[in-house]
Amino acid sequence: MPNRPPALRFFRDHPKPKTADPFYLSPEWKALAAAAKKRDGYRCIRASCPTPERGKGGRLIANHKTPRRAGGVDRLDNLETLCPTCDARFHRDKGRAR
Ligand SMILES: [Zn+2]
Repeated sequence: MPNRPPALRFFRDHPKPKTADPFYLSPEWKALAAAAKKRDGYRCIRASCPTPERGKGGRLIANHKTPRRAGGVDRLDNLETLCPTCDARFHRDKGRAR
C-alpha cells in the first residue's frame, strides 16, 4: 500500500514514546482536565454513551479531540469529557490506543 493517508504516515514517523507524556502529570494539565470535566457537568459527553448516567460520579477522562501528537492544542475547546468506555472506543476507532 504505497499511498498511506497523512495521519498514518505521521504516526509511523513519530512513534509514541514508551513513557507517558510528562505533560499529563503537570499542574497545567490537571487544571485543564478539571475545567473540562466541570464544563461538561462531570459526565461523558457522548450521546451514545453506554455507561449508566454517562459515568457521572465515576472516573472520567479529559480527552483531546485532536490529539496533541497530531497538533491538537491544550485548550478547553479541544477537550471533551469521556467515560473510560467511550475513551477506549474513541481511541480504538482511530485504530490506535493511547
Ligand atoms: Zn461514555
